[in-house]
Amino acid sequence: FLTLSGINKSFGANTVVRDFDLAVEPGEFVSFLGPSGCGKTTVLRMIAGFETPSGGTIRVGGADVTALPASRRKIGMVFQAYALFPNMSVRDNVAFGLRIAGMTRAQIDARVAEMLDLIALGHLADRYPYQLSGGQQQRVALARALAPRPNLLLLDEPLSALDAQIRTSLRDDIRRIQRELGITTVFVTHDQEEALSISDRVVVMYKGRADQIGTPAQIYNHPTTRFVAGFVGKLN
Ligand code: ATP
Repeated sequence: FLTLSGINKSFGANTVVRDFDLAVEPGEFVSFLGPSGCGKTTVLRMIAGFETPSGGTIRVGGADVTALPASRRKIGMVFQAYALFPNMSVRDNVAFGLRIAGMTRAQIDARVAEMLDLIALGHLADRYPYQLSGGQQQRVALARALAPRPNLLLLDEPLSALDAQIRTSLRDDIRRIQRELGITTVFVTHDQEEALSISDRVVVMYKGRADQIGTPAQIYNHPTTRFVAGFVGKLN
């Protein structure tokens, strides 16, 4: 459904993504796992259309989107933290992308109610972001990303600013909602346990390359490189 073929990306003389190939199935949940600076976010930004590859092709549902601007890719995205509009209520944050898409008032109200129900925050619809916990804010960010019914959901370290307990419960909620909607998802994290517990498949990245791609069990039980073995804690 999402295909990256021979993706390279350089910033000046600095090549940060090399020969990156990946095919994500419809409805699949794939994580990019790796240490800081390995290029995870850069690949995600190319999928979103915020960066253009220096070489290679990106396809979504068979269509070549490599040169398509971000605004035309129908992608929902959630970032590390606090990306809500601070001066808008929860309801208006979730409605934002729907107004742009030109839906009627009644359609917007119905979709917002559906989304708030999905994240179980209907009772907080009239609050403002500063009146919510970090976990609640990330739930709203997820609802906002999903409201326009995107083709793809991209999550860039959405849990890393949260306390351990909230992180686990939100992780489980993200996976439940992702399955319920059947939306193809790419999740970026530097946390091994998180990637191995939430994903259908994991791409372990090292120095801009996909070092190993496999199911959590394959990655954990059969690391194929020394880097992967070390990174998932299987050395010694
Ligand atoms: P982190 O978890 O720290 O964000 P990452 O694996 O997501 O790490 P990237 O953010 O993709 O890594 O960055 C990979 C490399 O590309 C880094 O060395 C970074 O400095 C460089 N880089 C990213 N964006 C730019 C840019 N716009 N201009 C120049 N260099 C960049």
